[in-house]
Parts: sequence; structure tokens; C-alpha cells
Amino acid sequence: MTTREITIYGGGMSGMVAAVNLAREGYRVVVREAEDSYGGSKIYNPSTHVTPIDVGKTSDYIGIDLWPVFHKLLRCSAYLHDTALTFPVYEVYGVERGDRPGSLDTLLYGRCLDLGVEFEFSTPLRADDVPRLAPGTIIACGLIPAAYKMLDVPFLPVHMWLSRGEIGFTDYAWLWFDESITEYGYLSAVNNYYFDLLFSFGKRVGEDALEKYQDFMVRNEGVEHDEWDYQVGAVPLAGPDNHRLFRNGLIVCGTMSGAIDPFMGFGISGALVTGKVAALAVSDPAAAQAEFDRFLAGFRRSFYIKEMWKRFIRPDVSRMERHIRMLGVERVNRLVKLTEREKSLLPLPFGTPGFGHANIYKG
Ligand SMILES: Cc1cc2nc3c(=O)[nH]c(=O)nc-3n(C[C@H](O)[C@H](O)[C@H](O)COP(=O)(O)OP(=O)(O)OC[C@H]3O[C@@H](n4cnc5c(N)ncnc54)[C@H](O)[C@@H]3O)c2cc1C
Repeated sequence: MTTREITIYGGGMSGMVAAVNLAREGYRVVVREAEDSYGGSKIYNPSTHVTPIDVGKTSDYIGIDLWPVFHKLLRCSAYLHDTALTFPVYEVYGVERGDRPGSLDTLLYGRCLDLGVEFEFSTPLRADDVPRLAPGTIIACGLIPAAYKMLDVPFLPVHMWLSRGEIGFTDYAWLWFDESITEYGYLSAVNNYYFDLLFSFGKRVGEDALEKYQDFMVRNEGVEHDEWDYQVGAVPLAGPDNHRLFRNGLIVCGTMSGAIDPFMGFGISGALVTGKVAALAVSDPAAAQAEFDRFLAGFRRSFYIKEMWKRFIRPDVSRMERHIRMLGVERVNRLVKLTEREKSLLPLPFGTPGFGHANIYKG
């Protein structure tokens, strides 16, 4: 009997989770990656990410122990201008991306090599290749606009200032909301490495917004860094039904499949679980589609909540800040520190694997 070969384009989180699971089933797996080494896109990585996640359940689901690389944050504040709130209700973890020793990618790459997964670096998928790909090829190209265009996946451009490097603290994050951007600014620090990002969907982030954010950081957190790059990426947030596990006979996973939280843009959990689902799709497409639908069931609701937030609440951060101050910051912070039982009673507003984990992992 010949061993079936599966090609995966994109050696990031979801591509490598798919590779591990297929190699375990006896497939010969070849990962073709655009960059010249593992560690995700060099535009974005090395970096540090934050996400609400159930590390134990996600590890069980994908069959890979993630505990060595996820670090529970000691502090994560959400600022409305200069007013700091405790954020959020759920447990938030930090994780490093890229090719440094403590990163998620290094862990996944090690598992791939243990199982004989082959990597071909500097071999990007190009538009001309797409019609010739074997059915069942997996596409896991993350947040690079060219890949969305190749597969005709609707996306929004994401404009961002980013900065990264060594720093003297760890397991720490903040978010910053301000009218000058449509999304937020955030710094996260893991393994004494930081990643700082200021981003908007669909519109340029001006230098004036960056200056405002820099002033905020110095004023409230005593942190300052001079090196900032400007980048434009892609995110599949064009609508409530913008999800796909299959496209033109190909299997799509990770953020390209639409598995990214429409509200905050958390993409880690979605990338990890859809990598596993993509591996299942090779042998059992119907079962994989059912799993995919189960994981993404809450996205439509989350999308509409985001629409309301975007139209009626988010544009006026000053008003939110005034209301919080009227209620009293301490009282609001006490309110969001719920007990486990209170949390379990909450109607979870986000249908993502990150936020909605209590719902999505049940059978
Ligand atoms: C700047 C930034 C900050 C973020 N912060 C957070 C956060 O704090 N928390 C969170 O939960 N999520 C965050 N996200 C989202 C999260 O990073 C993504 O959702 C996640 O990386 C998606 O995983 P993936 O496996 O789909 O893609 P990735 O892990 O990005 O991997 C995609 C891989 O495909 C490769 N590739 C691209 N094009 C091609 C091609 N044509 N051919 C072959 N290979 C190709 C890339 O080089 C890369 O290695 C952030 C995203 C960005 C861009």
C-alpha cells in the first residue's frame, strides 16, 4: 500500500497542528512555507500574543501539550484613554510566536520533526499553482492579503503600527481604546519579549494616533520604544457568514478559514482547533464540517455584537469613560471579578474557541 501524501501551504500554527495530526495517522506530510524558516510570517514575528483560552482543553483537543508555552498573565488592563479597568472576566494567557526557544511555533515545529513531517521553506503558494493543486491540499496562510486574493476569500485590510524587542518584564499586557483607531492598541510581554501593536480595520493609522498612543504609554505605564514599523495585513471579517473549511476542493484552516474572533481579533484558539479539524477533513469531510460548524457557531452573534459596538459605543470612548467614572472604577472592577459559578451563568457573548470555550468543547 502506498502512503498518501498531503501538502500543507503555510507552516504557522494551524498548518503545523494539521501536520502533526496527519503524520500521526500515517500520512506523508509536506509543509510548504513562504518564509525561509519556521516561525510564521516575518512581517509579524517574533511577537507575543494574548488570548483567553482553555489551555488544557485545547491541548486535549489537538493532541499537543500546550502548557509549556502558554503563560497566565499577571496583569491585563483595558484602558479607556487613561482610565484603567481590569480585563477581562476570563483567564487570559500570553504566548510567544516566532522561532525563539520558548515560542509556540518552536514547540509545534519540534513535534512535526519528531513525526517526520517534511518542510520546504521559501516555497510560497502562487496564484498560478492554485488550479493545479491536488484535492485535499491544505491552505493555512494566515493573514497575508495575497493568499486571500488567490482563493478569492473576502477580507478587510488591517493597518498597523508594530514594535517588538526585549523588555524587562513578562506575563503582562494592556489594551488601549481611543477614537483615533477603530480597534485598539496593545502591548503584551512574554518571556521578557514584548510586542506592541496599534491597529485599525480598513483605514490608515496616522502618525498622530501613534504619537497619542506613545504618550499614553509613557504617562500610564512608563514604557517607551522608538522603533515602529507600518504594515498592512488581512483579516477575514467581511460578514457574519464569512467562514469556510473547503474552497475549490481545497481545505482551508486557521485565520483564512474565518476562525478569528470577530469582536477582538483573537485568532490563536481558532487557528489551533481548525488545524486539527483540517486534518480530519482529509479522511472524513462530513465529520470535519460538523466540527467546524460547531466551533464557529457563535461567530454570527459575535459579529452582530461587534456591529453594535462599532456603531453605537466604540466611536465615543470619552462617553464610555465618563460613565465608568460615574459608576466608580473600583466598583466596575469589582463587578468584572466574577466567581467561577457566576462566570458559568454568563451568556457568553463571543462564540470563539477563545471566549466560548465553555460551550464549544462539549460534545
Ligand atoms: C500583528 C498581529 C497580532 C495579533 N495578535 C493576536 C493576539 O494577541 N491574540 C490572538 O489570539 N490573535 C492575534 N492575532 C491573530 C493571530 O496571529 C492569527 O489569527 C494566527 O496567527 C493565525 O494562525 P494561522 O495558522 O492561520 O496563520 P499563521 O500562524 O500566521 O501562519 C501562516 C503561515 O503561512 C505562511 N504563508 C503566508 N502566505 C503563504 C504562501 N503564499 N505560501 C506559503 N506559505 C505562506 C506564513 O509565512 C506563515 O508562516 C494577531 C495577528 C497579527 C497579524
